[in-house]
Amino acid sequence: MPIPDKKGYYGSFGGKFMPETLFSCLSELEVFYGKVKKENSFKKEFQFYLKNYAGRPTLLYFAKNLSKHLGMKIYLKREDLLHTGAHKINNSLGQALLAHHMGKSRIIAETGAGQHGVSAATVARLFNLKCDVYMGEEDIRRQRMNVFRMKILGARVIPVKSGSKTLKDACNEAIRDWVTNVRDTYYLIGSTFGPHPYPMIVRDFQSVIGKEARQQILKEQNRLPDYLLACVGGGSNSMGLFYPFFKDLKVKFIGVEAGGLNKDLNSASISYGDVGVLHGAKTYVLQDKFGQVKGTHSIAAGLDYPGVGPEHSFYNDLKRAAYVAVKDNEALEGFKMLSELEGIIPALESAHAISYLKKLAKKAKGALVIVCLSGRGDKDLEIVQESLDK
Ligand SMILES: *Cc1c(COP(=O)(O)O)cnc(C)c1O
Repeated sequence: MPIPDKKGYYGSFGGKFMPETLFSCLSELEVFYGKVKKENSFKKEFQFYLKNYAGRPTLLYFAKNLSKHLGMKIYLKREDLLHTGAHKINNSLGQALLAHHMGKSRIIAETGAGQHGVSAATVARLFNLKCDVYMGEEDIRRQRMNVFRMKILGARVIPVKSGSKTLKDACNEAIRDWVTNVRDTYYLIGSTFGPHPYPMIVRDFQSVIGKEARQQILKEQNRLPDYLLACVGGGSNSMGLFYPFFKDLKVKFIGVEAGGLNKDLNSASISYGDVGVLHGAKTYVLQDKFGQVKGTHSIAAGLDYPGVGPEHSFYNDLKRAAYVAVKDNEALEGFKMLSELEGIIPALESAHAISYLKKLAKKAKGALVIVCLSGRGDKDLEIVQESLDK
């Protein structure tokens, strides 16, 4: 599949809108990745850590109570069972291995809720790398436990005081650091966003989700699913699930964005955004009428980002995938539904995808569906408790 093209475009989306000083870093990464991608030894090493450290393959679990309740055949891809509790470790392991092989001694990362920061800090210990994580001051306040986890793991958390003091500002600072320290520093991006080659690299590392799911469902059901469902923040768990099914045109993809509170306050970049440039890529971006990046909101901190990976924008315009928005209160219902019916407490991000099953069930009775359960819900219990008390 020749996507992205040589300039890093997926159709008219993507690219690398970066200051010239970063071009050589991006090219170095692109060339290096292009080389190791073909090497069996790198693949084997990556697979070794996925299996022995992260705990792959993950189960494809038939959710029988939920299936009965909604009148569909629903399988959950259990990324919540991985070490550190979410799919992010797949990508972090892959990129830390890259950093290690490139001879870098330090990784930096941006984080919003802290989930990616924790997974970066985790793999930094594994490969003995120094780790600095940029995090908005506002997020540091909201996510104290993850800040503490990163510190226990030996990472330095650098507070970002600019802009809205959230994820997008943390990205800006991480990019600034990278420009200055590129000789010894690797920038470990947490999702399928940013300038080329990052969206491609993250997609490739996360594709293990879809590759496993494809084999597992063929073994279980002897056919491909009718639908794939996943929540979309930056877009990595969804792209990881979708991509290996790209050519299976009968398999429909649904990306579930965070509809937040309403049409003005949300994180649903494809549903409510316009084409723009954010963090080095042309893609759908939530913006005001002057083209300034808008403030975002989602009850799920991991979905709270004003842009989306460029490959999703491409899938949307191709109509290869459909994108829908699920609101905070609907996500809470999904959270309760899965906990009560299956005894599985999902992350609030994943609960967006779970919640959309109710709407899908109305038009797709009997359908065979795979949902990516991107993470477990322990981290969200406080927020859920507050919301239910209200
Ligand atoms: C970060 C996160 C997401 C959103 O990120 P994507 O790159 O869109 O997958 C979803 N679920 C969980 C559990 C997360 O931690």
